[in-house]
Amino acid sequence: MYKDGLKNEFTRMVIVSTVICLVLFTVFAVFFSYLMTEARESELRQLEVETTEYKSRLVKQMDTTMQILSTLSKAYEISDIELTEEFLEESLKATNKANDFISMAFFDKNGNGMINSLEYGTGKDFSIEDCHQYSADAIRRALTGENTVSRMFDSKIHDEKIFVYAVPVYRNGEITGVLAAGNNLEIFTDVANGSTVMGGSGYLHLISKDGTFLIRSKNTPVDAGVLDIFSGDYLSEKTKQATIDALSAGNSVTGEFSADGKGYLFYVEPMGLNDWFLFCAGTMFEASSIDAGFIAITLGLLLSVITVTVAMLLIGYRIFRKKSFSLYRIACFDRLTGAENTFQFDENFKNTERSGAGYSVVALNIHNFKYVNDLFGRASGDRVLCFVADVVSDQLKEGEFFCRDAADLFYILLRETDTEVLKKRVESIISFVRNSSLTSGGYSYDLLLYSGIAVKGDRDKALIAMQSIRNVQYENIAFYNNAHHDQVRRKNSIESCMNIGLTNREFKLFLQPEFDLKTNRMVRAEALVRWQRPDGKFMYPGDFIPLFEQNGFCLKLDMYMIERACEQIREWIDNGIEPLPISVNQSKLLFLDLNYPENLAKTLEKYGVSPSLITVEILEGTATEDLDFFRHQVQAVRDRGIRVSMDDFGSGYSSLNMLCSLNIDEIKLDKGFLQNVTGAEWERRTVIVRHIVKAASELGVATVAEGIETDENRKAMCAIGCDIGQGYFYQKPVSAAEFSEKYMSPR
Ligand code: C2E
Ligand code: MG
Ligand code: MG
Repeated sequence: MYKDGLKNEFTRMVIVSTVICLVLFTVFAVFFSYLMTEARESELRQLEVETTEYKSRLVKQMDTTMQILSTLSKAYEISDIELTEEFLEESLKATNKANDFISMAFFDKNGNGMINSLEYGTGKDFSIEDCHQYSADAIRRALTGENTVSRMFDSKIHDEKIFVYAVPVYRNGEITGVLAAGNNLEIFTDVANGSTVMGGSGYLHLISKDGTFLIRSKNTPVDAGVLDIFSGDYLSEKTKQATIDALSAGNSVTGEFSADGKGYLFYVEPMGLNDWFLFCAGTMFEASSIDAGFIAITLGLLLSVITVTVAMLLIGYRIFRKKSFSLYRIACFDRLTGAENTFQFDENFKNTERSGAGYSVVALNIHNFKYVNDLFGRASGDRVLCFVADVVSDQLKEGEFFCRDAADLFYILLRETDTEVLKKRVESIISFVRNSSLTSGGYSYDLLLYSGIAVKGDRDKALIAMQSIRNVQYENIAFYNNAHHDQVRRKNSIESCMNIGLTNREFKLFLQPEFDLKTNRMVRAEALVRWQRPDGKFMYPGDFIPLFEQNGFCLKLDMYMIERACEQIREWIDNGIEPLPISVNQSKLLFLDLNYPENLAKTLEKYGVSPSLITVEILEGTATEDLDFFRHQVQAVRDRGIRVSMDDFGSGYSSLNMLCSLNIDEIKLDKGFLQNVTGAEWERRTVIVRHIVKAASELGVATVAEGIETDENRKAMCAIGCDIGQGYFYQKPVSAAEFSEKYMSPR
């Protein structure tokens, strides 16, 4: 899930960034297309404007020429003067000169006439047949009463492109001849040779209705061999058709074409004369070069922003991934073994549960792992944990997983529900580890694992099953069952009423006397707790002390018992009874509290009890946690005059070590010394106990023998040299009231 979380986070980031980039691109695309449309529109407008301008200049020039001819023809019509050769010669000459035509001519209705050229003078006997065909066409049409302009042609006489304008000359209401003038079009001379159209980026053609070039700019990109606008593949089929339609209808039209890889826009405008059209074209981008530059800058900026965004995203992602990965490792994996931790296990567990497949959870623990650490050192302990993790990992099948919880506790999820199969698989892990005994510095240690299995259960149930194992040597696999369920219920019920029990003083002080083995004189009593439930029944320490050790309630209960012992001593004193010292059992947890020695002293003070009347009994196992600190705490208690006794001496593995390290007042030999012993072993034990007692006595440490059940026991311990004895032989633990009544009589 953590992995999924990271993935989702990154996916979200990528989606947001992609959306931002897409929005930027869309905005840019819309903006760009708007600019392109604008640029196109603006160029088309420009083409139209320029074309219209050229058209009006051309029309104006033609009109002027036509007007001059018409005026002269009118003059001929209304004048009485005979149209003699001399008269015509003179009038042509004068008009030609005055108007700067290239040539002027008069033809009678038979087509005979004369011509006057500024360059060559007057030519008589000149007939229509001598003219260029285009010129002759125009003149003939004029003879039919029409004012005409010829198509442009290359004049052989004048060596330039010229037009011929022709108007009919009337006499007495009849056409008597034609006046014609040859002229070039100045505008086209500029246009064709120069670079004036569209600021130099365009050009202008005069075309006929069928698209043939009549006058053609020099700077056109279209090949010289192409004679009309439809030849070659400059125009698309669509544009070609639209242009043909417009030309035949005499309409204007716009379109695009490409030449030499460049795009052009064109505009065609009818001249209103001779079915001529002006064709004006301009390059698409150069016409809007400012916009194109702007577009390039914008595009550059946009690309930079996107590049920076993508780069930042990538860098961010790499950092994010690196950090997340280490966080992920910390959050989900056990640093020592590399196995997953309980957090990750529970996530995987949820998925398995959801999948509906059969499964079981196994809790696995190393028996007395604490000793491995103590005997072989922490580094070896770590190696053992890694080794177990490896073994477990190797035994897993598809879809199975495991984790390490605190210390030496592992949880495994197996995809099995058959108890026999489960047992076999777990046994194989246990025996694999067992066969790899730990040896170091001459020590050898059997790594014994034990396990609880909860079929279709969870970690808690597997753990409960595992904790139900009493003797690991005989039983190392336990399946969770209803009895365990009851145990849990009992545990819950105890925990739910322990606090109220303490408030209501349900925990009672019982006392068991201790005797001087030599004199048989009672020297002390041990405080033993009994929990009297509201129904009057008693519960014994074995039923609740281990649980209180686990949940920490011992801290409260043990101080409470110190108070009850002090209260009892105070009562004896107040009743004029010589007080008897009391030893009180104290949980090892208390010694972890730095204030404990001071708290003890304060409680004693509260009841006005001399510290010499109180002994605290601690379990020797306590000492292994943090020896220096423990030694300091023990000393702090002794410094306040309170005696310290080590309980159950010999039941742990480091008793002698403790005796060497700790400055204590007394050891209480575990009752196990006296129990279940046969003859031969008894001999050996006696030797050992005797030496312990001797060693203790030499160190000034008193010895107490627990579990004296018979007089034989008493004699034996007395013979060994033990100082004090305690056990059923003397007295079973009894309530404080009974004890007082029996043993504490007023002086
Ligand atoms: P312990 O401190 O070693 O106490 C001696 C235990 O041996 C007592 O069991 C006592 O009843 C039992 N005992 C005494 N004489 C004989 C005998 O001749 N034969 C046998 N078989 N047993 C004998 P008890 O009262 O059930 O207490 C069990 C343990 O519970 C104690 O062992 C002590 O470790 C713990 N405990 C008792 N009271 C307290 C307490 O107030 N606080 C804490 N933290 N632990 C307590
Ligand atoms: Mg004790
Ligand atoms: Mg004991």
